[in-house]
Amino acid sequence: MRDTTKSGEFTAADENALWYRQPWTLEFDAAVREVRAAPGAGPRRLALTLDPCGFFPGGGGQPCDLGTVAGAPLAGVREEGGRILHFVDEADWKAVFPEPAAGQTVRCRVDSLRRSDFAQQHTGEHILAACLKTAINVEAVSVHFGEQYSTIETLAREISEDELARAEAAANAVLAGGRKVICHWIDAADMDRYPLRRAPDVRGRVHIVQIGEAGGVADVCACCGVHLPDTSALGHIIITGTEKIRGRVRLRFITGGRVIKAFHAMSSVLGRLRTSLSCADGDLPRAAEDLLAESRNAKRRLGEARGRLFRYEAAELASRSQEYSPAPGVRARFMQAFLGGCGGQELSGFTACCLQTGPAFVLVCDMDEKTPPDKQRGVSWIAAHNFGNGKETDLKVLLPPLLAASGGKGGGTPERFQGSFPGPAAYLEFAAAVRKRFS
Ligand SMILES: [Zn+2]
Repeated sequence: MRDTTKSGEFTAADENALWYRQPWTLEFDAAVREVRAAPGAGPRRLALTLDPCGFFPGGGGQPCDLGTVAGAPLAGVREEGGRILHFVDEADWKAVFPEPAAGQTVRCRVDSLRRSDFAQQHTGEHILAACLKTAINVEAVSVHFGEQYSTIETLAREISEDELARAEAAANAVLAGGRKVICHWIDAADMDRYPLRRAPDVRGRVHIVQIGEAGGVADVCACCGVHLPDTSALGHIIITGTEKIRGRVRLRFITGGRVIKAFHAMSSVLGRLRTSLSCADGDLPRAAEDLLAESRNAKRRLGEARGRLFRYEAAELASRSQEYSPAPGVRARFMQAFLGGCGGQELSGFTACCLQTGPAFVLVCDMDEKTPPDKQRGVSWIAAHNFGNGKETDLKVLLPPLLAASGGKGGGTPERFQGSFPGPAAYLEFAAAVRKRFS
């Protein structure tokens, strides 16, 4: 996110740069002035300086141009210390120039689709930001241009659906009328002669972007991005959604070629849903709601069935578990089960069912009895009893030494512990020690 009103945004803007003087010169010859190593992560990169510079280095929230220099793909372009650096992978560059290439003249090609796409989004953003102000009195403070969609951050804490629709309609009315886009340079000292939407805090020369001519001016703004010569390529501006950031509304929008792409992407999704749910577009929300309701019902019925099964299995386990005396005057059953394929909730549910069968010590885990001891998998377990928390039966006293001896983790209350082991062998060692101690 870059705030287009911050000073410094305009330092990238050399008014003689090709992307301002002739923004649609996308193929040109340039002299290589310097080639030097550009340290950084990833493949070895070189930084080239070219004359003239025709690759926009990014600014005003707009990403940099990409393309090729002498056939080598550009990995990025940026301004650094007043110079425009063009980054290429060293291997790509050496495939063209095995020897240092400074002084050579090279053919440069700007990726025209990328340039045109971002110029569309940027020009559309000026119109939408202006209409947010004029139609619903909402101020735009920053903009970000992404590969899929762009965002405008506003000062508003809330914007209603109706207000968004009004701003969007106003922006589309500007497009329907068609406007020229006039870009020119002025001295910062003369800025008050222009009806700028927001006055930037800059000195020196300032790049002004004006949408529309006298009588039909939709916006005047200081901006160092690259824009379209007119609005004819934009077609429509669509606000596709909003979100909150730092308590303020940020809205997403698309315009130009992205509108058609988005329409086809949505059509494709709708087509797949239509086929899977066997219904017409208009019935899709109802069909999806029905499906969700059915799924919730099925989950509830499955839970009930599992509960009945657990009660039956717990009773069966109790009937074949041996009784012992965990404390003077207490008789209880030692119940151990291997519940392979069960999750934590199921381990808990089965433990509760076992404890309902009478006085018992229960030890369950989420592995099968036949799991090979050396299998690479963690094991979760629960140990619990229901015969009081006297000193002789306090799990907080009794289990930690057994866990430490087997390399397991766990914690809980005097009557219930749960935890995990790094593998089956360690758990089986722990289970054997627990059985010895509690049965
Ligand atoms: Zn702009």
